[in-house]
Amino acid sequence: MSANVFDVFYPQLAVGKRHQPLLTLADGQQWSRQQVLEASGRLANFFVAQGLVPGDRVTVQIDKGPLGLCLYLACLRAGLVYHPLNTGYQPAELAYFLENAEPSAVICSSAYEAPLTALCDRLGIERRWTLNGDDTGTLVDASGAMAVQFETVARGPDDLAALLYSSGTTGRPKGIMLSHANMAASARALHEAWAFSESDRLLHMLPVFHVHGLFVAIHCVLMSGAQMVYLPKFDAQQALRWLPECTVMMGVPTFYTRLLDARIGREHCPNVRVFISGSAPLLAETFRDFEAATGHRILERYGMTETNMNTSNPLHGERRAGTVGQALPGVGLQVVDDAGQPLPPGEVGSIQVKGANVFQGYWRMPEKTAEDIGADGFFNTGDKGALSADGYLSIIGRAKDLIITGGLNVYPKEVELLIDEQPGVLESAVIGVPHPDFGEAVVAVVVGDAQWPDVQAAVAQGLAKFKQPKQYIAVKELPRNTMGKVQKAALRAQYQGLFQ
Ligand code: ATP
Ligand code: MG
Repeated sequence: MSANVFDVFYPQLAVGKRHQPLLTLADGQQWSRQQVLEASGRLANFFVAQGLVPGDRVTVQIDKGPLGLCLYLACLRAGLVYHPLNTGYQPAELAYFLENAEPSAVICSSAYEAPLTALCDRLGIERRWTLNGDDTGTLVDASGAMAVQFETVARGPDDLAALLYSSGTTGRPKGIMLSHANMAASARALHEAWAFSESDRLLHMLPVFHVHGLFVAIHCVLMSGAQMVYLPKFDAQQALRWLPECTVMMGVPTFYTRLLDARIGREHCPNVRVFISGSAPLLAETFRDFEAATGHRILERYGMTETNMNTSNPLHGERRAGTVGQALPGVGLQVVDDAGQPLPPGEVGSIQVKGANVFQGYWRMPEKTAEDIGADGFFNTGDKGALSADGYLSIIGRAKDLIITGGLNVYPKEVELLIDEQPGVLESAVIGVPHPDFGEAVVAVVVGDAQWPDVQAAVAQGLAKFKQPKQYIAVKELPRNTMGKVQKAALRAQYQGLFQ
C-alpha cells in the first residue's frame, strides 16, 4: 500500500462535501475542495510531463496564495520533494539553498525572479516558472491545458515528501528530510489532540514556507474536512475582521501581542473554540492578558522542523502558562543529563523526542544526523527544559544559548523572567558576550522604559551574583525573524566587542 501522505487528505477533498469551500480569501472569494483537488492534479500532470520524477526536489519561493497551496499538494501527489524557501531570503543567501538542495525545478514569484534566474543559469537548472500570490505567472500559463485527473504516485513510508530548512536561529539553516510517514504521523497526532472537525474554520495568516503554517495548520484542516480563511500575511485589523467567522486561530506569540495592542475583545471571538501558539516562547504575561481580554487561555505547543510537533497543552484540561504541555500521542519525550540519563521531575536537561514524527536525517549531513539521533532512536532537540511530575514540559532555552561565565552555567531564561517582571520592562534577551576574565559575561538587552537602578537592585536580590547581568542595554525592540523568534546570534554578534 502506498504511504503517500496525500492519500490521508484525499477523502476530505474528493468525497461528500467536495463542492464546499476549502479556502476563503481576503476579498471573500472562495475555492472549493474540488477546485483545489483539480488544480493540484493539473500541476502534478504538468510536472510529470516536464520530466520530473519522484525524489526530484522542487524549490519554491512564492508569495502565499491559493495556487501555491495546490502546488504543494501537486508535489506530494507526483512524489516530488517540496522545498519551500523563506520569502525574506535575499539574493546573497539563495545560492546556499540551491547549491545544497540541487533542485530539478525552481518556482518563484515574479518579485524574486531576477536573482533566482541568475543562480539557475549558473547551476544549469532549466525548469523554472513563476507563480504569484494572485495566481498569475508562467506556471499557470504553461500548465493550463493539462488534465485535472491525476493518479497519486505510490510512495514508501520513508520516501521524502519535503525538504525544509530550519529557521537558522542558531546557525546556518540545516536541510531537514521529512518523509511521507513523518508527515502523516504528525497530522494524525494533531488531528487527535486538537479535535479538528468539519465544523472548523481556521484563520490562517502564517507564512507557508515554515512547518507551522505549512504542515501544522494546513494538515489539520485537510485531514478533518475543515476550511480556512487564507490570508496572505498577518495583519491585526484583518484578523479582527475575520475572527468572528472562525473557530480556530494559530499564530506565533507576536500575533497575540499585536492582537492585544489592537484591543481584541470577547466580541471578536464568539465562535472561536481555541487559540494556538507556537514557534517561539509565549510569555506568561501574554497568556494572562489574552485571557483577561478574550476569556481564552491560549493553547501553547512545542515543535520544530525536524520533528513537527512534540508536545501540546491539552484541549480539555489544564493549560499551564509557561509550559508547552505534555507529549503528543505517539511521541516519546525525555529530559536527560549530559550522560544521556533521564532526569527526575524538575531538573533541567536536554529535551529528547522519539517517534514516527522524527525526521529522516539532515540533508547531506550524515555526521550531524548521527550525532543528534541516538542508537535508541531519541533525537536530541538542542533545547533545554524540565518535566513536571505530571509530564508538562517547560522549555528553558536552547543549549546553544547557555552562558558559561567564570565556569558557571547560566540559563538566560531564568534571568529574563526576573527582568521581565520589573516595572517598565516589556521584554528582554539575556546573552553571553566574550569577556577577558570570565570567558563570557552575562548581558541583558532590554525593551522598555525602566529605572535601571531599580531593575539592577531587584535582580541582585533575586539571583546569585554570577547570574546578574554585567551590563544592561536598552533597545527599542528585539531582533526577530518572521516566526517571532528572537535572533540571539545577531545580538551576540552585535555586542561581541562590549568587553574587549
Ligand atoms: P535552527 O535549527 O536553524 O537554529 P530553529 O531551531 O529556530 O533554527 P525551527 O525548526 O523553525 O528552527 O524552530 C524550532 C525551535 O523553535 C525549537 O527547537 C524551539 O527552540 C523553538 N520553539 C518552538 N516552539 C516553541 C515554544 N512553544 N516555546 C519555546 N520555543 C519554541
Ligand atoms: Mg533548530
